[in-house]
Amino acid sequence: MAEKELPGGYRGPGPGEIAVVGLGPGGEEEMTPRARRALERAQVVVGYRTYVDLIAPLVKGKEILISGMTAEVDRCRQAVERAAGGARVALVSGGDPGVYGMAGLLLEILAAHPRAKGIKVEVIPGVTAATAAAAALGAPLAHDFAAISLSDRLTPWEVIASRIEHAAAADFILVLYNPRSRGRPDHLRRARDIILRFRSPETPVGVVRNAGRKGEETWIRDLATFLDLPVDMASTVIVGNSRTKVVDGRMVTPRGYRL
Ligand code: SAH
Repeated sequence: MAEKELPGGYRGPGPGEIAVVGLGPGGEEEMTPRARRALERAQVVVGYRTYVDLIAPLVKGKEILISGMTAEVDRCRQAVERAAGGARVALVSGGDPGVYGMAGLLLEILAAHPRAKGIKVEVIPGVTAATAAAAALGAPLAHDFAAISLSDRLTPWEVIASRIEHAAAADFILVLYNPRSRGRPDHLRRARDIILRFRSPETPVGVVRNAGRKGEETWIRDLATFLDLPVDMASTVIVGNSRTKVVDGRMVTPRGYRL
């Protein structure tokens, strides 16, 4: 039997549910049908403004709770409070919610929350920037790769630098998230200098800005020259390994097949 709904769609007392939804890189076509269904089902949508704006036509008429860039903890708490009150909540993240996203934080907050009992939680994956950017460049991630965020908001720079060093030494292809912002214009150059200790200056580097959404731009350069590109927070940088090459204008890392 269908649950009786109160005006506004609330089921009344009793725990609701939270879907942590990965929206993909932004283009409507890049969103999975499962993510779309979760948005349709939600009564309350919680998220950071840029992402909520991207899905505005899909969430028209729903209650929307927007919070700023650095208010992730508040946002997750809000989601839990509303679900504890019986609502179906969608907590939205760009890309994949578990890749530098909010899924982990939500699960931690939920575990510690006194009213969380009975709330159903589902994490819905999305196309992450690494694969959206890789596809736009060609096939640079066809071998082992490491994703590293250059943001030191939650991780000390020494840890980031050490990871870059180890991943570069191990010849992983590197995917750099959060590559450059006004607050830390120099991190990308510092990362490049570390990588240059292990890789040749001719190593291909791909940059994709606005991957998988309107305004997508791609560049393929090399370690010696890519710093001149307009890399920003809407960009992902992929640094090839020692085997990566440029084939007909696309960046490719061979898997090792004999041709
Ligand atoms: N959860 C997101 C990542 C959040 S971290 C995901 O899975 O994609 C934010 C960083 O992701 C940005 O600074 C940028 O490096 C990258 N990013 C997110 N969306 C992007 C896009 N459409 N194009 C290029 N890079 C993107």
